[in-house]
Amino acid sequence: VRAEVATEKAGAAKISAMEVPTTHKAWTYAEYGPPGVLKLEQIPVPDVAADEVLVKVHAAALNPVDGKRRQGKFKNTDSPLPTVPGYDVAGVVMKVGKEVSKFKEGDEVYADVSEAALNKPRQFGSLAQYTAVQEKLLALKPTRLSFAEAASLPLAILTAQEAFDRVNLKVGQSVFINGGAGGVGTLAIQLAKQVYGASLVVTTGSAGKVDLLKSLGVDKVIDYKKEKYEELPDKYDVVFDTVGECNRCVKVVKEGGAVVALTGAVEPPGFRFVVTSNGENLAKLTPFLESGKVKALIDPKGSFTFSEVVEAFEYLETGRATGKVVIAPI
Ligand code: NDP
Repeated sequence: VRAEVATEKAGAAKISAMEVPTTHKAWTYAEYGPPGVLKLEQIPVPDVAADEVLVKVHAAALNPVDGKRRQGKFKNTDSPLPTVPGYDVAGVVMKVGKEVSKFKEGDEVYADVSEAALNKPRQFGSLAQYTAVQEKLLALKPTRLSFAEAASLPLAILTAQEAFDRVNLKVGQSVFINGGAGGVGTLAIQLAKQVYGASLVVTTGSAGKVDLLKSLGVDKVIDYKKEKYEELPDKYDVVFDTVGECNRCVKVVKEGGAVVALTGAVEPPGFRFVVTSNGENLAKLTPFLESGKVKALIDPKGSFTFSEVVEAFEYLETGRATGKVVIAPI
């Protein structure tokens, strides 16, 4: 028995030593600017701190914050350049730091790798073959999800979850989501209905996206190109603005209700927050993802390959993507 254990241990060590190279391919930028500043380079594989794991990246996803950060909009609080962008990752644990207790080599995991999205986000993020992630930000990948599907979730689903937790969304309440077709909106619709038990979910979207929004469980879609939602008579307990129109959104909340916004100027009672990544919060959603009640939604164009990251950013930055823009396989 002892010999077997020893062989297993030696085997495991051998695998990780063989599989983790010293350098890897990563998308990096050394100056702020448009997607063209991104270059695919061979750089050292990141070291792993005591509270971190090294993940072999299988898929990553893009978020608007990646683009805003690359444009230098958060340069006062950014981590130093050069940067490897990317918050969302799904992959396999290759190495664990000495304080790590919840994950082991071989685990399939996913995460938003930056605890604070704007304040010193991870310098070497997920658009790379390997990335180091703090244990507290990781969750086990739901087995029902592919790596691409899992990578599409963390930042956006944690944002929707945090928004609804902050306004204390309760069973039976009505919710208005401005911008239902985006990365955050498509998940917010599903969370409102399936996780928080909202009785009515209404959203805005353009005509071509109505069927998709209804398939996510929305009760009514307002075509924002034809109708002004703030001029309609309906009012809601909770209003979630993912577009940056808080001044209009405050007009559709019931008296005493809450308006939570992600971007743009806010006015009372609206407030804005910045998402905090947290592996335990991600893990709370596992039952809903495993049962299929909440689904990952990758843009109908399909995933972009690792060599198409610049094109993927150009597409995301049109503001017209549906669901999530995913990079897979990596
Ligand atoms: P996406 O790029 O995924 O959103 C694109 C979607 O928005 C498209 O499907 C588009 O649909 C829809 N859309 C665009 N304009 C409008 C409009 N006027 N009315 C209704 N829908 C519209 O973005 P995300 O969902 O990932 O993020 C949304 C915003 O929230 C971004 O500004 C992002 O930076 C921010 N954010 C902030 C966070 C925070 O912590 N504060 C966290 C996450 C995101 P169509 O083609 O029909 O117009």
